[in-house]
Amino acid sequence: MATKKAVFVYSSELEKYSYPSEHPFNTIRARKTRKILNSMGLLSGGGRGELAPVPAERTVLKKFHSARYLHALKRASAGHWEAEALGMGIGTQDCPVFKGLYEYAVLATGATIVGARKILSGDVHVAFNPSGGYHHAGPEKASGFCYINDVALACMVLAEQAKRVLYLDVDVHHGDGVAYALYDRSDVMTISFHQNPRTLFPGTGLEDEIGEGEGKGYCVNVPLPVGTYDQAYMKAFEAIAVPLMKAYNPDVIVFELGADALAGDPLANLYLTNNTYAEIIHHLLSFETPILATGGGGYNMENTVRAWALAWSILAGADSHQELSHAVGGVMLESTEWQGGLYDRALAVTEQQRNAVEPAIEAVTRKIKKNIFPIHGL
Ligand SMILES: [Zn+2]
Repeated sequence: MATKKAVFVYSSELEKYSYPSEHPFNTIRARKTRKILNSMGLLSGGGRGELAPVPAERTVLKKFHSARYLHALKRASAGHWEAEALGMGIGTQDCPVFKGLYEYAVLATGATIVGARKILSGDVHVAFNPSGGYHHAGPEKASGFCYINDVALACMVLAEQAKRVLYLDVDVHHGDGVAYALYDRSDVMTISFHQNPRTLFPGTGLEDEIGEGEGKGYCVNVPLPVGTYDQAYMKAFEAIAVPLMKAYNPDVIVFELGADALAGDPLANLYLTNNTYAEIIHHLLSFETPILATGGGGYNMENTVRAWALAWSILAGADSHQELSHAVGGVMLESTEWQGGLYDRALAVTEQQRNAVEPAIEAVTRKIKKNIFPIHGL
């Protein structure tokens, strides 16, 4: 990895915008991630660097979103309220109107798109946009804190250049906007691991949603029970995602790294530590395929920022850095103050939790193996 380039996509321009203060989505997370990484010296040297985003062009936005929707979003952003916008989800509690929301969404999307283009040009092996990952936005619908679907657009931009794209979504919520955007296509495989939609927004993403037409078998949903912990998650990941990724053999991976699956997230109920994200990233790197990573959800600020800083460190080949060592902090401190570096300490799992989680994950794994694996010759 040391000779391959990794770019962290960010600019202080993104700091000009914020959701209303009472809203759980905080645009500060990207800035804080950058600050930690910068202080650790992990944004330069060893083939690592930074890249400033440019706003996504209208021609790009229109690959997925309707002109009517983009117009309404722009009008709302400039302070013009129209009933039609509300019908498209703009101005709801989840997707409030705030000053400059259009400019923010277009710039944050542009950050993902410049990463995709850098990968296409062959200049970089890894790009990470912590301000991206708006996987719920629909063609004509703001949803789940998302206005413009940067990740669906990135998959489309990459696939247009005859790339086989693997979209992996580990945000705790189903990546519905991306999955349905590509539901009938086989040039992008979408795999979403998420909390069971019977217990969480957006209410879709059960294992029987597997794509249609040419896309049948190229949409993979892995719903997980409340309380899913590291070992159970990794067991599912290794049983489902790893063989499918090997069979699909992508040219590029788009990785939506929402951090709301971590234990302690105020909006969800899984029980992961960032050690799981680290393990997943090591799997992705083993494919030696370029990776376009984005942020996403993550509503416990401190956990989210640490998870993203850790993710970048590994993606950018700095994993051996001393500050990342969990062995040091893990045995050193008894206090509740965690100073073990970027890795979370392991969490204890109860017998009751195991008994509830394991059978549910085994059942889902069996169904996916039955319905999807044969399509890929597995
Ligand atoms: Zn989420």
